Amino acid sequence: MSAQPDALLPFADAVATFDPVLGLEVHVELGTATKMFCGCPTGFGAPPNTQTCPTCLGLPGSLPVVNRVAVESAIRIGLALHSDIAPWCRFARKNYFYPDMPKNYQVSQYDEPIAVGGWLDVDVPTPDGPRRVRVEIERAHMEEDTGKTTHQGGETGRIHGADYSLVDYNRAGIPLIEIVTKPIEGTGASAPEVARAYVAELRALVRALGVSDAHMHQGSLRCDVNVSLRRGPDQPYGTRSETKNVNSLRSTERAVRYEIQRQAAVLAGGGRVVQETRHWHEDTGLTTPGRSKEQAEDYRYFPEPDLVPLAPSDEWVAQLRRTLPEMPAARRRRLQADWAVSDFEMQSIVNAGALDPIEATVADGADPAAARKWWLGELARVANERGVEVGELPIFPADVARVVALVESGALTDTLARRVVDGVLAGEGSPDDVVAARGLKVVDDDAALLAAIDEALAANAEVAEKIRGGKVQAAGVVVGAVMKATRGQADAARVRELLLARLGVSG
Ligand code: ADP
Ligand code: MG
Ligand code: ZN
Repeated sequence: MSAQPDALLPFADAVATFDPVLGLEVHVELGTATKMFCGCPTGFGAPPNTQTCPTCLGLPGSLPVVNRVAVESAIRIGLALHSDIAPWCRFARKNYFYPDMPKNYQVSQYDEPIAVGGWLDVDVPTPDGPRRVRVEIERAHMEEDTGKTTHQGGETGRIHGADYSLVDYNRAGIPLIEIVTKPIEGTGASAPEVARAYVAELRALVRALGVSDAHMHQGSLRCDVNVSLRRGPDQPYGTRSETKNVNSLRSTERAVRYEIQRQAAVLAGGGRVVQETRHWHEDTGLTTPGRSKEQAEDYRYFPEPDLVPLAPSDEWVAQLRRTLPEMPAARRRRLQADWAVSDFEMQSIVNAGALDPIEATVADGADPAAARKWWLGELARVANERGVEVGELPIFPADVARVVALVESGALTDTLARRVVDGVLAGEGSPDDVVAARGLKVVDDDAALLAAIDEALAANAEVAEKIRGGKVQAAGVVVGAVMKATRGQADAARVRELLLARLGVSG
């Protein structure tokens, strides 16, 4: 595809001239054991087409039955979003002919969703600390996922240029909840951050509810990003584009930014934005046009005749309300108070994805400040290098807590502790295994340290003279030499003490 690259207006100019409006549609794959309308298992990564049956393959004569747990999850999500739960609603057939849906229709909900209205408050990071934005919810509805198509033989993995395509129906029929926002106005230049913060908060919410693992990179939470621009807040909405299947928080932010810049260039050049779906390209950070958007009538929605309507009783809903856990925002406030950190520090912790690991490390006995230092420092650095989230590193919070304890007891210096953590990350076992295998112990034998000090002094005679003459700052050179000679296994403070005593000067 050698289309002309899109013209882009610089972001600052774009948001100075135009007012962005966002709409986010988030699909959450529920973590139910079985599919939405049949008993097929839902585990990720099974060989293609091994988790299918006549119902999810749409074979004639098969009939769907609703998964109760999926409905419960949908209701709990609705309740957590402050939505009204419909006392009566139906499924609808969304008709389309596409090989990823063998029935040639998807069972979804259309004008009768299970949850209506509501809101989610999100904390948007700004240089001055978090700013709270209320995102209004339009609806949350249930539907079934489609199969997964892969295009073979081409260079890009896209259908264009491929020799043939393969379809895996393991995913077809897995329960999905789609949560749709009302148009989000008034975000201005922070539109990209608001979009990201909303998806992050929703992900935290469904994880807290325990209804989905919400792994964006595995597609169990994905986002369609709608963006439009208008000349000012008092103007009618502009035409939107809908960027499909954005699958990371960072991409959500980038896709919004890109569409604002692209549409601004179109409008500033006197052109018109086309209503269309667009594809997000993770590698290049671009969106490209997909199909021009179907109108709802193209889908010929009608009530699903094979399923009975849902009528959740008040008692059932009340009972589900009692199962709601502490909400993520409340939990953050509680942890922030417990750990005595500022808004700004809390924002860094959340951004780094380090909330869960730090909480678990503290639960394993570490001091909150020490836990934070590791997860936001050394471990964040390694995670960044490896391109994973900090919580995905092969080290347990209990390991970090153990390292903290070893430093506190004086068994490890900071330098040694870092080497222990390196060892754990390299798969050498627990912290104690690494300490034993690598022989990482603080040299706390003063006689050995004094021998090393004498050697360092002999090698640095001039420096030694300076220190004797009162230039105590120069001691760092000798301490450094001793640390090097002991391969970082000495306690620098103790070395300095012994050194000054040896030279008869006071620190
Ligand atoms: P579709 O079926 O086309 O995806 P939906 O109603 O499911 O439509 O979702 C559209 C999303 O875009 C919603 O979040 C809606 O609030 C939002 N939206 C609607 N109009 C605009 C607009 N002009 N600009 C930005 N977002 C919009
Ligand atoms: Mg939609
Ligand atoms: Zn099935």
